[in-house]
Amino acid sequence: MDLGIRGKRALVCASSKGLGRGCAEALAEAGVDLVMNARGAEALEAAAEEIRERHQVSVVAVAGDITSDAGRAAVLAHGPFDILVTNAGGPPPGMWSDWTREDFIKALDANMLTPIALMQAVLPGMMAQGWGRVVNITSVSVKAPVSVLGLSNSARAGLTGFVAGTSRQVAGKGVTINNLLPGIHATDRAVALDMAVVKARGISMEEAIAERAATIPAGRYGTPAEFGAACAFLCSQHAGFIVGQNILLDGGATNTTL
Ligand code: NAP
Repeated sequence: MDLGIRGKRALVCASSKGLGRGCAEALAEAGVDLVMNARGAEALEAAAEEIRERHQVSVVAVAGDITSDAGRAAVLAHGPFDILVTNAGGPPPGMWSDWTREDFIKALDANMLTPIALMQAVLPGMMAQGWGRVVNITSVSVKAPVSVLGLSNSARAGLTGFVAGTSRQVAGKGVTINNLLPGIHATDRAVALDMAVVKARGISMEEAIAERAATIPAGRYGTPAEFGAACAFLCSQHAGFIVGQNILLDGGATNTTL
């Protein structure tokens, strides 16, 4: 399917690896020029170069922490953007009784206030040109809480509320905002969470992965490529009537009817 977005320009945050990288790849495959971002310059430049070679699109790599004012200013300087994919690392797992105010502020900054600031920066330009697409990478924890990820549950619920209202305010200008909710995907983040289970329970990595995979009806972890394909579709010309949705990509793991 031709996604109809060849020549558009996208900012894909936190995209040297994992789900962000999957989104960058899929958009590049659709002919979209990219600004990619991550903190580690080496892995970012390597990812950017691979994508340039594979898809013959323009890719600007901007190293920096997207959760900081300076990091956001650095990527936004490469605008204007037709497409924004927000993403950042997720908060660490832990216990509800241990988290401090500082822990919450850090999680809110990364997974709620950063995507909101980025949307506030790019939405006026998208509305003025009458076309735009925003996809926020959030989490299955918005639909079904993951108890040890209480910082993530809290911050992402706040972002989801913001998107629910704002998406309806901008849709009339040809701009859509939607959230993609990853369940368990095979990325470094999944490895870190599996490692936490290994340490807590004294089991092997293979056992930890098998246990988690067994909770997924699809019987396996998702892939960044599958995730990226869903993101690219939401950014396509065909998705202009999908507004303010929270789309779960979890292999059926969340046992709900709706
Ligand atoms: P990942 O494999 O660890 O990749 C994270 C990417 O983001 C890397 O490129 C990393 O590069 C970059 N990054 C992290 N923090 C950043 C920051 N502050 N500024 C700029 N770049 C940053 O993670 P992932 O699995 O793709 O997860 C992406 C998001 O989805 C996270 O918020 C995660 O919590 C959420 N999620 C993931 C899963 C899953 O199963 N994978 C499930 C639910 C939710 P640098 O480290 O070099 O900055």
